[in-house]
Amino acid sequence: MLLKLAKLGEKGSLAVTNMTAKPVLNQAQFHTSVAQLRDLPYSRAEVAFAGRSNAGKSSAINLLTRKNRLAFTSKTPGRTQLINFFELSADTYLVDLPGYGYAKVPPAVKAKWENLLSRYLQEREALVGMVLIMDARHPLTPLDRQMLDWFIPTGKPVHILLSKADKLSNSEKTLTLRRVEQELAELDGVSVQLFSSLSRMGAEAAAALIEGWLKPEQAGVEVVEPLQEPVHKA
Ligand code: GDP
Repeated sequence: MLLKLAKLGEKGSLAVTNMTAKPVLNQAQFHTSVAQLRDLPYSRAEVAFAGRSNAGKSSAINLLTRKNRLAFTSKTPGRTQLINFFELSADTYLVDLPGYGYAKVPPAVKAKWENLLSRYLQEREALVGMVLIMDARHPLTPLDRQMLDWFIPTGKPVHILLSKADKLSNSEKTLTLRRVEQELAELDGVSVQLFSSLSRMGAEAAAALIEGWLKPEQAGVEVVEPLQEPVHKA
């Protein structure tokens, strides 16, 4: 299998093929919360953010969208188990998936979460890539691996943010990045980088990569001119 691991350290950057495309992440606005797949909105392209609860997902979304409190909407009562959609531009979304890994979750809630997440990740056509947030001090938990197992067979890319990297020493950062890369070396389409919402480490590289995923040609959708109004004969 082809190894595609982007080595993104503190000073890392990715080649971005289209620097002229208008950024959309900074246009994010809350759109809707969804409890069931049949309620998903029409979407041309969307990027999903997933992660264990407390991994730093909301902070990462807020930093990448440059909206201080945006993702905390997803944490308001009644929304934590829902799929939260933030519109970036017309029919383009950032999707905040429910955090996982709460210590005491009743089996019924866990089953519902598994069904919702696995089907969303496997079946959602508009989904162009997943950003998986992992606390750099505790990467690749069993549920993180579960997310990868569900999503990787789709052939779409996964980008891992090793969050809270500011809490690691320089040597720990290097070791952690290397270890995670090694663990995922056999997987196709997975990239990984260090990230910190506090120090903004890796934010530019992550934003550029996500913007690249959302470009129309990346989403495999042709942009067509709007159809002309039908002519009504009297
Ligand atoms: P979520 O549950 O995954 O959405 O995580 P949050 O973004 O709410 O973050 C959980 C906790 O970790 C909060 O107390 C944050 O302030 C803290 N946190 C998030 N990102 C970072 C980071 O990059 N560095 C540090 N030191 N703390 C962070």
